[in-house]
Amino acid sequence: MDEIDLIAIGGGSGGYTAAIRATQLGLTAAVVERDKVGGTCLHRGCIPTKAWLESAATLIRVRKAGAFGVRVENVSLDYPTVVARQKRVVETLHKSLRAVIQKHKIEIIEGEGRLLSPTQVMVGGRKLTARNIVIATGSRPREIPGLETDGTRILNSDHLLALAAPPRSILIIGAGAVGSEFASFFLDIGTEVTLIEMLPAVVPLEDPDVGKALGKALAARGANVLTSARVLTERTRVYDSRVELTVEHEGQEKQMTADVALVAVGREAVTDNLGLDKTKVQLDRGWVRVDDAYRTAEPHVYAVGDAIGGLLLAHVAAAEGFIAAEASAGKTVAKLDYNRVPRVTYTNPQVASVGMTEQQAKEAGLNAKSQRFSFKYNAMALIEDEADGFAKVVHDPDSGDLLGVHIIGPHASELISEAALARFLQASAWEVGANIHPHPTLSEVLGEAAQLSAGISIYW
Ligand code: NAD
Repeated sequence: MDEIDLIAIGGGSGGYTAAIRATQLGLTAAVVERDKVGGTCLHRGCIPTKAWLESAATLIRVRKAGAFGVRVENVSLDYPTVVARQKRVVETLHKSLRAVIQKHKIEIIEGEGRLLSPTQVMVGGRKLTARNIVIATGSRPREIPGLETDGTRILNSDHLLALAAPPRSILIIGAGAVGSEFASFFLDIGTEVTLIEMLPAVVPLEDPDVGKALGKALAARGANVLTSARVLTERTRVYDSRVELTVEHEGQEKQMTADVALVAVGREAVTDNLGLDKTKVQLDRGWVRVDDAYRTAEPHVYAVGDAIGGLLLAHVAAAEGFIAAEASAGKTVAKLDYNRVPRVTYTNPQVASVGMTEQQAKEAGLNAKSQRFSFKYNAMALIEDEADGFAKVVHDPDSGDLLGVHIIGPHASELISEAALARFLQASAWEVGANIHPHPTLSEVLGEAAQLSAGISIYW
């Protein structure tokens, strides 16, 4: 093959976006992928887990049907169908992704890519020459010493997705996005759940009130939620059909057992055997170090997505891949403002946020104030019988700027896009409040919280 303008190593959201954008700018591009294009998000992350969660949400909704005057009998979960449906959704998306990549005349080169130099990539026996390389190799679940996953009793999220039947009980270590989403799913399908988090709240990166509300909601559905808890990993015991953990919590040592344990304590970059030693590319605590245009220390080697750390989110990887492709085509690129990136945790209830919490804004030296509006005063939430949760707007009373939005409640994942657009357009809280929201909709919750912030609420 001739010299290729851009080779993405890794065909996940970051890699395929970079390749597609490059071809749109008139460059030639190829994607090197050792597994399937679509990466973690499509095959082992966002998509399969959200398909599972949708089955759990349907189960819950059908169980509540009586309250809506709809009589349903003998409601139960058919797990093989949950899994089969999830696989169908993934396969449909995989097919359309392959078609989009091929439509852009991008070759998908199957195999593991290794750099021979800053301009050469080896895949299988094939040596490719590239003007630009985008490292988009992603991440894998992080292990903790003493609690190494074995795929049978001690699992990571990849193992869990491959189980033939749901466990009757599960100990989940880490209450970030992965741990909390699985906790919510398993609770809703009847598994006994213990959620163990080292920090003082579940989803500890979120607004503290949101974390508190989610912890309460999970506990109310029967989860044993232990925060500020420490797993004494050296005391882990694995038996034929059980796993036993010792956890230090509220000054006591507690022993707990379950069918399986899930280790969900974060992820690490995949950079081994990549040939980075043949380049000047540098790592920072395992993550590939890049500048604002996603350039590494090699001017024609870029890196995007989970491999560079920060927010490990598919939409972030895609945004970074887009910028890296534009930079490699010689365009001037603007720095991505991570404070306008929406973040969603698909628990029941959902959690979504964009921008800063009040505390983060104060730490940044801003004069920040926040206002909350509850779903219990929202007509559509009452109609849907989903009135738990709230929207919180953080703003700067001096400038009026909208600094952050934090939502817990029904369809928070959809509602956050308005807030993200508002952040992108540098809107004020007044502008979000004065924007007319259709009635009755859940979206009014954000409008009301923004009106409270701007002092234009007619209710208070
Ligand atoms: P995470 O970093 O979000 O959460 C890990 C949690 O584990 C943290 O709360 C941390 O305090 C806790 N922890 C660490 N060590 C611990 C220990 N020894 N004992 C108890 N708790 C411990 O990581 P994750 O949940 O594994 O997710 C990995 C990445 O994937 C994250 O960056 C996440 O944002 C992303 N992800 C996103 C979504 C989504 O957008 N909906 C879903 C899943 C994963």
